[in-house]
Amino acid sequence: MHKIVLVEDNEINAKLIRDLLKFKGYEVVVVISGLDARGVVEQEQPDLILMDIQLFGTSGVEAAKEIKGDKNLKHIPIIAVSAFSKEKLEEKNLSSYFLEYIEKPIEFSTFIQTIEKAIELSKNNYKIKKLTGEA
Ligand code: MN
Repeated sequence: MHKIVLVEDNEINAKLIRDLLKFKGYEVVVVISGLDARGVVEQEQPDLILMDIQLFGTSGVEAAKEIKGDKNLKHIPIIAVSAFSKEKLEEKNLSSYFLEYIEKPIEFSTFIQTIEKAIELSKNNYKIKKLTGEA
């Protein structure tokens, strides 16, 4: 079973996304505060991170930066989930932190497809890096 860490400070959104992912067979760990994100990711070692951008106390960008700055965690793909437009994120040059971007309100089938693709891609990349000794 694949594990996803969901960083989302809105409880209703978090519950909605968690229930959807659980229904699709994923194990989900919800983090309400971006400040706890890196610690939880380190502990849970998920296959994927879903990151809200506007978070209480910090931003999803800061939390993603922290995770990508950790050599033991940087291989885990992060998908931004935000009401910000994709253009706005690209303007800020965030593609080095985020593999993909999902716009809120989420559209369920696109959402699940994006997640499945990201997990598959990261598994393959990780295998290649392991073979070439980069991981
Ligand atoms: Mn938020």
